[in-house]
Amino acid sequence: MSYIEFDNLSKKYKNADRYALKNINFNIEKGEFIVILGPSGSGKSTLLDLICGFEDITEGKIKVDNKVINDIEPKSRDVSMVFQSYALYPHLTAYENIAFGMKIRKANKKEIDEKVKWAAKILKLEECLKSKPKNLSGGQRQRIALARAMVRNPKCFLMDEPLSNLDAKLRNSTSNEIRNLHNELNATTIYVTHDQVEALSMADKIVILNNGEIQQIGSPFEIYNNPSNVFVATFIGRPQINLFDLFIDDDYILLGESIKFNKPKEFNDLNKGKYIIGLRSEDTIKVDNSNEEYIEGIVEKIEYLGSETIFYIIYNEMKFTFKDYGVNNIKIGDKINISFNFNKANIFDILTRQNIRSN
Ligand code: ADP
Repeated sequence: MSYIEFDNLSKKYKNADRYALKNINFNIEKGEFIVILGPSGSGKSTLLDLICGFEDITEGKIKVDNKVINDIEPKSRDVSMVFQSYALYPHLTAYENIAFGMKIRKANKKEIDEKVKWAAKILKLEECLKSKPKNLSGGQRQRIALARAMVRNPKCFLMDEPLSNLDAKLRNSTSNEIRNLHNELNATTIYVTHDQVEALSMADKIVILNNGEIQQIGSPFEIYNNPSNVFVATFIGRPQINLFDLFIDDDYILLGESIKFNKPKEFNDLNKGKYIIGLRSEDTIKVDNSNEEYIEGIVEKIEYLGSETIFYIIYNEMKFTFKDYGVNNIKIGDKINISFNFNKANIFDILTRQNIRSN
């Protein structure tokens, strides 16, 4: 038995012509940090709304701690939501904002005080408890929203893009704080984002949604290295994975129209025919030893990122990227010898676009 279970969960809004969520099935274990990742409109907020009880479930069940919560009032669901807009009361101090929910539930003053101070200590908010939101930074306001969720002692934290209003530096530190907080409290967390970098860096497990359907569930490592279909492969990773039509013959392979290589031994289990191949930019390699097989590409654009550099390569009108680490003196217009790490390739069915090696 898992802690939270989604059993064939579907949602169709009134008057909508399609399902916002369709046949969602997955489980969350106690203490897990789950990231729901997908593009805008994929159904992420709908899923959170169904868990909170803000929206009715059309079909299926949600169970928490082995209890179906479909018909439980939102306020009795024991989940705490942290929104992207912090939703703080401007006329209340940080202390009063954190204490607000407990006060409404008529907790006694001493209990409120202990809990607010406990949360403020963990989130390093002790100095600003007397300040009003307008005098605090975005990061502090988001931490107040987190503290307010913490003092409810929920069964589960729900976070809806909590970093999206912060600048890059604050995003990084608040993302670390949220992970540290999770490690400290070991609270089950469902975190929604459209940002794949956030998802890869924060999640124990990622659930990828598109058009209301689950595309893949897995660890960041599994999702990056073994994407279950072309959608996941292209949604995860920057620069975007290089995708080519692939033709496999008895003793050679053809990528796109014109990149021809001897058939790699890794492809021996594949029937002759058409596929799609995905190769990440770090699996495009520069060949220095001319005994190896290579093609001669031309560097069209260079993106220097500090520890790594992305080279945009063109070969017979086919474009792809190659990632290099460390120092090199390659310039735009240079010709470089390129090969591929075919043992890291993902191969997709040409029609279903599913990874033919995932089950
Ligand atoms: P996300 O959070 O991933 O951006 P949403 O859950 O907001 O996606 O939306 C999923 C789908 O449901 C979209 O097609 C959206 O237009 C639709 N939708 C969301 N809320 C409503 C609503 N209240 N009424 C009708 N359709 C809605």
